Amino acid sequence: MTKPIKSYTLEELQDLLKDLKQPSFRSKQLIEWLYLHHAKSYDDMTNLPHALREQLSEDYPLHVPEVIDMQTSHDGTMKCVLSFYDGACVEMVAIPSNDGRLTVCCSTQAGCAMGCVFCATGKEGFTRNLSTGEIVDQVLIAQEHMGKRVSNVVVMGQGEPFLNYDHTIAALKILNDEKLLNIGARHITISTCGIIPGIDRLSHESEQFTLAVSLHAVFQRTRDNIMPGVSKYSLKDLKTTLLKYIERTNRRVTLEYAMIRDTNDSAVDLQTLTDFCAGLLCHVNLIPLNKVQGSKYQPSSWQTMNHWHMALNKNGIEATIRNSRGSDIAGACGQLKNEIERHM
Ligand code: SAH
Ligand code: SF4
Repeated sequence: MTKPIKSYTLEELQDLLKDLKQPSFRSKQLIEWLYLHHAKSYDDMTNLPHALREQLSEDYPLHVPEVIDMQTSHDGTMKCVLSFYDGACVEMVAIPSNDGRLTVCCSTQAGCAMGCVFCATGKEGFTRNLSTGEIVDQVLIAQEHMGKRVSNVVVMGQGEPFLNYDHTIAALKILNDEKLLNIGARHITISTCGIIPGIDRLSHESEQFTLAVSLHAVFQRTRDNIMPGVSKYSLKDLKTTLLKYIERTNRRVTLEYAMIRDTNDSAVDLQTLTDFCAGLLCHVNLIPLNKVQGSKYQPSSWQTMNHWHMALNKNGIEATIRNSRGSDIAGACGQLKNEIERHM
């Protein structure tokens, strides 16, 4: 049976080459071809023996995603649709800043099973998990197309990263590896809808990746309505888990709160959010809800958002209003969707 080479973690690649009776430096060479030079085929790997290349290409096919669509926003944000070898598609967004940074928003699953009602990906359902290399490839492709080094990564594209934990973390380790993409762990943010076992596991990783949690509601009933897939993890347990995470890592957590008119933006919601943040080392990101086709949900008014922003800050809770880039090309939060059908 064949298995794509991009589905292996760095450690597994080392073990694989050991099993193939190769000297240890070969795994380093292979890893550099895959994740530094972004080789498109085993033929490119000129310093590997011919027989090894033949064997690898027979049993461990090397697939490179195809860019099947690309759009650039007036603010410079680029959105790509990538198609993998089996036809699964995801979107990746690259966001340049005036200060020279280049942030890539990458996906960890084709589609998502969580079904959040305000999210374009959630509406499309789940196709499959991405492999380690398929996640890294998104960053390598952004780098190639934008012609500059990626400085920041946000795992905020399609999918729930903690439902594909092993591949996501293996990919982030490759991005962080100083001999590979060398992106600082603190410049890598992983966003979860609140999968508690994933938050626990992340607190044991040695890298200092940044954690963001999509909170979006502070009343259990509201949250269960708008984020049905995560309803088995209660807000009470989420808070306990975050307190433990902060105690263990000493790191600040970002709470994401998409403001939805008449759904989660009342005065009582504001007070309850303030209570939720009590004792948490956190930063609240208020996100103007991006419109999603076919959805009845509307963003809160600017007046309400500004009021929340000031009220939180006044209560000693660090808060910002996130400006969504790339909304004219549907590259903003929650607008990424699985485009398989559109392209079939
Ligand atoms: N599944 C993960 C990561 C991907 S979503 C998660 O949910 O955290 C990235 C962010 O965009 C999340 O905070 C998500 O809740 C938010 N989002 C989804 N739909 C949105 C919309 N229509 N407007 C604004 N933010 C949205
Ligand atoms: Fe999935 Fe995140 Fe969208 Fe919810 S918001 S459906 S968890 S991608």
